[in-house]
Amino acid sequence: MTIQAATSSMDALTSLSKRRGFIFQSSEIYGGINGFWDYGPLGVELKRNVKEAWWADMVRCREDVVGLDCSIIMNPRVWEASGHVGGFSDPMLTCRQCRRHFRADHMDDLITQSDWVASLCEAGEADAEGHLMLTHAKLERWIRKKGSKLAKGMALVKDADTHLDGVAKCVGEAPRALRDVLVALGTPGLPADSDPLPCPFCGGDLTAPRQFNLMFKTHIGAMEDHASTAYLRPETAQGIFCNYRNVLDSYRIRPPFGIAQIGKSFRNEINPRNYTFRSREFEQMEMEFFCHPSEADTWYTYWRDLRYNWYVQLGLHSEKLHLRDHEKDELAHYARACADVEYDFPFGTSELEGIANRADYDLTKHQEFSGKDMHFFDDQTRERFVPFVIEPSGGVDRATLAFLTEAYCEDEAPNDKGEMQTRTVMKFHPRLAPTKVAIFPLVRKDGMPEAATQIYEACKKAGIVAFYDEKGAIGRRYRRQDEAGTPFCVTVDGDTVSDGTVTVRDRDSLQQERLSADDVPAFVARHLHSE
Ligand code: ATP
Repeated sequence: MTIQAATSSMDALTSLSKRRGFIFQSSEIYGGINGFWDYGPLGVELKRNVKEAWWADMVRCREDVVGLDCSIIMNPRVWEASGHVGGFSDPMLTCRQCRRHFRADHMDDLITQSDWVASLCEAGEADAEGHLMLTHAKLERWIRKKGSKLAKGMALVKDADTHLDGVAKCVGEAPRALRDVLVALGTPGLPADSDPLPCPFCGGDLTAPRQFNLMFKTHIGAMEDHASTAYLRPETAQGIFCNYRNVLDSYRIRPPFGIAQIGKSFRNEINPRNYTFRSREFEQMEMEFFCHPSEADTWYTYWRDLRYNWYVQLGLHSEKLHLRDHEKDELAHYARACADVEYDFPFGTSELEGIANRADYDLTKHQEFSGKDMHFFDDQTRERFVPFVIEPSGGVDRATLAFLTEAYCEDEAPNDKGEMQTRTVMKFHPRLAPTKVAIFPLVRKDGMPEAATQIYEACKKAGIVAFYDEKGAIGRRYRRQDEAGTPFCVTVDGDTVSDGTVTVRDRDSLQQERLSADDVPAFVARHLHSE
């Protein structure tokens, strides 16, 4: 996908999300706050449905997994044991011109999303391989037009007299790969050990990378000193490890078994971006599965495949969804194996969930730091062992964004006059759809509103999220529900009052069928799980 196409499909989604109340910027009336988001009336239902589907499939429908809800702030020793105090950091670069910070390992991505880079690609008329031909004259024109507006911090732009000849010599003699051009543009004034790419925002030169710890700090109690420092959890998993003994001792369960948790996590991300994908406050759905070391490989493969299929079953098309096994050199030092479930977002292919075989690393670390025994004693085999852990760790907000992206669709549907018109429709899996059924009286008279209200009440009583709407032309009402992703619309008309039947319209196929009004709740309930 080209940069422009990716931006426009993301723009279409973000604008629908705001217009229809899926996602809002946090504190928007004060100009927002970078990396924080709010879910509106439709978004909160969608996100809740994602969590409920996960909880139902991972906990309630299984006999070997139990749930937990741990505090967000824990004893700071937890984060020393887990390695987060010492090692949970990302390499950060700072622009010497605009003072913005960037994650060194995200530079390639950031630069392809940069406005000035897009304008440079236009100026250089990329060939089929994406190689740019930037002659002296083209560079000069770019500096005068787009460059001076979009890349104010770039040495070449600020002082073309000094740099233009040299840069043009480097990049202007033959078509060059984009990265080589960017390196040449970023070079003036850079120390040799820093990342040679220029600032994705202003084109300025960047500092060498420094390590930046991602945990948010706070203080407990009245004194703000070192002794009162605490952290907002950067993952929910550690609460599970800390309670592993409590669960074993209080609940009749033994390995192999899992403990699951859904909850907020916080990371002071250097570059929150791509909408809700990388936020500073987000929700995770994590499960730690404790098993005998000899069974860990088998359980790893089991969870890896099951978690991938979970997303497919809820509507993510498998050609856009990938299960990527990590290479040996990508693995954390303690991990035996790891795979990511990745999705093709408009901004690139990115991780939704990681599934890892963490061996006995976490329990052994907590045993060492807390002095508490983490062994399990099997009274049948008389064996004592520290269980191995298989961890599927997913992000609620990333899954929700993937379901939103996948659902977004523009197609054609007839309007009130029977003419075909473009419509925007969110094709959510019925299980995830925020509203399951909308009920419309055709007109506001002849007993139709009363009959429609009765169906609406019956749906609510059956626990089905329903929406009642009697305003405007019927076609307009359908369109609004298409944008909200409501799978079924029920219309009450003149016949309903005489023969008790209604029309049910299917969001995706646009097929209409006649049904007894009394059967609506059962019809909707049946379809929630069948597709
Ligand atoms: P990334 O490499 O993208 O930063 P990660 O590998 O550090 O992610 P994990 O620590 O494995 O992520 O966290 C597990 C899951 O939590 C991720 O797969 C993702 O779905 C979610 N997650 C992690 N960081 C964020 C974030 N900043 N915003 C939203 N979700 C996140």
